[in-house]
Amino acid sequence: MNYISTRGAWSSPNAAQRFSDILLEGLAPDGGLAMPESIPQLSRAKLDALRDLTYPQLAFEIIRLFANDIPGGDLKALLARTYTRDVFGSAEITPLKTLESGLHILACSNGPTLAFKDIAMQFLGHLFEYVLGRSGGEINILGATSGDTGSSAEYAMRGKRGVRVFMLSPYGRMSPFQTAQMFSLDDANIFNIAIRGVFDDCQDIVKEVSSDIEFKRRMHIGAVNSINWARIVAQVVYYFKGYFAASASNDERVDYSIPSGNFGNIYAGHVARKMGLPIRRLILATNENDVLDEFFRTGNYRPRKSSETHQTSSPSMDISKASNFERYIFDMAGGDATHVAALWREIEHFGGFDISDDAMWDAVKASGVVSGSSTHQDRLDTIRHIHEKYGVTIDPHTADGVKVGLDHREQGVPLVCIETALPAKFEATVVEALGIKPERPAAYQGLEELPQTFKLMDADVDEVKRYIESHAG
Ligand SMILES: *Cc1c(COP(=O)(O)O)cnc(C)c1O
Repeated sequence: MNYISTRGAWSSPNAAQRFSDILLEGLAPDGGLAMPESIPQLSRAKLDALRDLTYPQLAFEIIRLFANDIPGGDLKALLARTYTRDVFGSAEITPLKTLESGLHILACSNGPTLAFKDIAMQFLGHLFEYVLGRSGGEINILGATSGDTGSSAEYAMRGKRGVRVFMLSPYGRMSPFQTAQMFSLDDANIFNIAIRGVFDDCQDIVKEVSSDIEFKRRMHIGAVNSINWARIVAQVVYYFKGYFAASASNDERVDYSIPSGNFGNIYAGHVARKMGLPIRRLILATNENDVLDEFFRTGNYRPRKSSETHQTSSPSMDISKASNFERYIFDMAGGDATHVAALWREIEHFGGFDISDDAMWDAVKASGVVSGSSTHQDRLDTIRHIHEKYGVTIDPHTADGVKVGLDHREQGVPLVCIETALPAKFEATVVEALGIKPERPAAYQGLEELPQTFKLMDADVDEVKRYIESHAG
């Protein structure tokens, strides 16, 4: 499997990139994102053969299609080490919780940082160590987080040989639990940088540092943020797992609802659907930062400035420029990189683009994505409703997804809502909704009282570069 950039790089045969080549990269040299040349299609017979596999077996059958430059035996061993009951709390890894007939929650948040990002990130941790071990190389991971990516990356990479993590986060904007999870780590290879700004400022710094090719090469800068292709591939797996658990046979179709920020999670669902998994709809849920909802309703994509990004009670979705969206648009443009590059120039010059009169809009309609948004009050109401009716406590992000999912629910079609975090991670909003604290796993008692270390900085690219240079040994 070869990879190409959404803006055209790497398409000549002598520039061909394999999975391990793009694994440690952020953006492509032309500013685009890595995409597989084609999406593998699964036959009905193959789908039937996948239905009863364990999670690591299923992960192997899916990921090997995209990562066929890693020897099969090695990949299988890596996945068996990644997806264990020890790390994820159950052999199912992502168990399906049934609220009532046809209404489910896919529990994806039982990894070390209590958010779904661990599913992909734990795999990356093992994969990086494997790849660097083979090449004898090292990597300085530079990332931006609105809360969950950062902690997930740090817990996956702590103590990993050849790996350092420099993680930018918006100062004072993460939940106390998220902040404590990251800033209490004292591993020598983990560096927390708090930026005076919002998530998009952090993400812009990462993009700018990574576009300095000389610096990137010299400092071995790599990325694990949501544009990392290996993360998308690892997330494709639980769409299969959830589908098999929610249906009795591969003749059925199911709907998924997905709380969305950077469009990574839902994009993995889109890939699963393209591979032939019988997903009817992908229901995209945003909070008050509703850029993506606006696009799917109108065909008009208008990313907001960071000053127009609302701080909400589902902070991991406070994103107004969804990086993986470019991958989806590349698909909708039929893989026409010139068209994609032109649309992104339009964003640069005119602040957005409108495809409602374009043939691409028909492709969007056919892709099964529908959308909706929710408010703080909706989240409170949904947390309360689910707790009262089913005795289950959900976090505010999952509540965004459940709210919009229920709005789009159709009789006779199972609805699977992806749980993106445990409620313990976002205590304040859960207490506001229910008047009681959510249960917290024993290992996390007293987390906020641990000493915290971080470096506070303005949103200044050069200062970040200097910091990396002086700490990257
Ligand atoms: C990251 C995250 C999201 C958004 O996922 P994307 O892949 O960026 O769309 C939603 N909820 C939680 C809890 C998250 O950590």
